[in-house]
Amino acid sequence: MRLDIQHIRELFPILHQEVNGKPLVYLDNAATTQKPKQVIDALVNYYELDNSNIHRGAHTLADRATRYYENTRTSIKAFVNALETEEIIFTKGTTESINLVAATFGRKFIGKGDEIIISTLEHHSNIVPWQLLCEEKGAVLKVIPINDEGEIIFEAFEKLLTEKTKLVSVVHVSNALGTINPVKAIIESAHKAGAKVLLDGAQSSSHFKVDVQELNCDFFAFSAHKIYGPTGMGVLYGKRELLEAIPPFQGGGEMIKEVTFEKTTFNDIPFKFEAGTPNIADVIAFDKALTFVNELGKENILMHEDTLLEYATDKLSTIKGFIPIGTAKEKVSVLSFLINGMHPFDVGMMLDAAGIAVRTGHHCTQPLMNRLNIEGTVRASFSVYNTMEEIDRLYDSIRKIAKLKN
Ligand code: PLP
Repeated sequence: MRLDIQHIRELFPILHQEVNGKPLVYLDNAATTQKPKQVIDALVNYYELDNSNIHRGAHTLADRATRYYENTRTSIKAFVNALETEEIIFTKGTTESINLVAATFGRKFIGKGDEIIISTLEHHSNIVPWQLLCEEKGAVLKVIPINDEGEIIFEAFEKLLTEKTKLVSVVHVSNALGTINPVKAIIESAHKAGAKVLLDGAQSSSHFKVDVQELNCDFFAFSAHKIYGPTGMGVLYGKRELLEAIPPFQGGGEMIKEVTFEKTTFNDIPFKFEAGTPNIADVIAFDKALTFVNELGKENILMHEDTLLEYATDKLSTIKGFIPIGTAKEKVSVLSFLINGMHPFDVGMMLDAAGIAVRTGHHCTQPLMNRLNIEGTVRASFSVYNTMEEIDRLYDSIRKIAKLKN
């Protein structure tokens, strides 16, 4: 189904403004997506009508807030096709979800000499927690290499797997280059070697359908703010038997069954991992973002984004001095590039002056930039509300900027 993009744009108040005297062109969607009116209204409605602490109140507002909060969990279960709602844990975002696994699975199952495998494409949030864990435990961090197109080298991955590999933690879709990793094959090989797999789904979850049962991943982490939802809210999916086998993350209210000074027993999953008053408003509002995505249909969103990517890639490639970075065969709507002779930051500043928002720099993937021998890139990332006309504006500006040095 072809989407009515103009209608969709009407739902996003932020898009209808001028920046530096020009209509805003927002192409920084891999960093965070904008929020439709339904999500913004849900936040206001919650505070105006329902604000209350959840799970323990014996009054109408608390019941209502609890019901809305738990409704989001049910929607997320369907969104990633988890087997049970208990496998959906609310966190602050992808970063906290990964840190949760490092602190719990890592604490219990990773010891001296054990190995963890990540890839060269990782975001810092899927590198640093493992470095901290390895340092603490005396474990070893191994890194899957990539080719010059920005694709992981699968044979090299298979060679890294040993009987000591306890965890493979890889990004599903690279935020810096857009590369889609062959995660199904990675999971199969890792499982054969006896290792568990965590997928960093911060980028994939916004672009295409994710089915955790079909993938058979053990953990899947993502953030609401990249899927038209609020910031400060994210998800960790984990298989029931694993979540039950690992210790709690933080201690406090909600995560307990009974507390005495001698011994505390813990709540059932998912609450065992949700200590303290959670981010109730943002969780509730995220449900509206999921409804928005479901109503449009993920396959329709993907089709539109792929059309934009192809159009932008073809058009910008005709510009003298345009250098694409990351040319994987399988990729999402992320276009990373350099302009010959120019620093990415300067290109970004000039685009901003033209009302075009892109991201420049290392995109929290410094080791990847080192591998590619560059300091950073300019990154334009497209979402469901972007248009061909906006890409024409990007093209016109880049053409003028590139002419300064080419
Ligand atoms: N992993 C990837 C691939 C990302 O793109 C991001 C955010 O840019 C993260 C992890 C971290 O997500 P958050 O900052 O929402 O925790």
